[in-house]
Amino acid sequence: MEARIYRGETPDPAQATRDAMAMVKAGRIPIVELFYSLQGEGLRSGQATVFVRSAGCNCDCWFCDTDFRVQRGCDPDELAEEVETIGRGCRWACLTGGEPTIHDFAPLCDILKGRGWQLQIETNGTRARPDWGLDHITVSPKERQGARLDRWYYENAAEFKYVIDDPDDLAYALESRRRHDKAALLQPNALNPAAVALCTEAILAHPQEFRLSLQTHKFIGVR
Ligand code: SF4
Repeated sequence: MEARIYRGETPDPAQATRDAMAMVKAGRIPIVELFYSLQGEGLRSGQATVFVRSAGCNCDCWFCDTDFRVQRGCDPDELAEEVETIGRGCRWACLTGGEPTIHDFAPLCDILKGRGWQLQIETNGTRARPDWGLDHITVSPKERQGARLDRWYYENAAEFKYVIDDPDDLAYALESRRRHDKAALLQPNALNPAAVALCTEAILAHPQEFRLSLQTHKFIGVR
């Protein structure tokens, strides 16, 4: 596998993750930010959603567009209150990161489910069975970046979102797609025109297999 030079948004991913785990040891959930916006990617694209972005990740993908350094620590009750307040009637919350499955979101999910929220998670799929009453599991495999994908997700995910930058990424998506029957989306990395062309041609060539995912929030200038 070709090694790519890291140029992600987190200056030191390993240190950011150590800082996040130190906060976990102190009994707090390490949070980067909460915000209310439209889901920009995947099958739920366009739906109003409260995003809970946790700190730290067990990967350091060269293309990562997220700064996952911890900004504050919260407990589940505080988080649930904040989700309610900023959601203004919304009933979808999305756990994202970083990698949310390196933390225990079960207590927060329990509270939100009890209040009628539906829950999505965006995960790299390396850690299995986040048994938190999730309604929509979005997996973006990072096997091309050397991260093992847990096969549990082939049965339990709602969608697989493949980030495509070059033909090798596409070859991986084609191979991975044969291992499950869930929705499979090709998402051009950073709207790189060559990647857009690769995705478009692949979808036209495999119309029953794939559909396109664009980072629509970047088009319309929202988070
Ligand atoms: S798995 Fe996601 S959050 Fe983690 S480094 Fe890769 S792109 Fe960034």
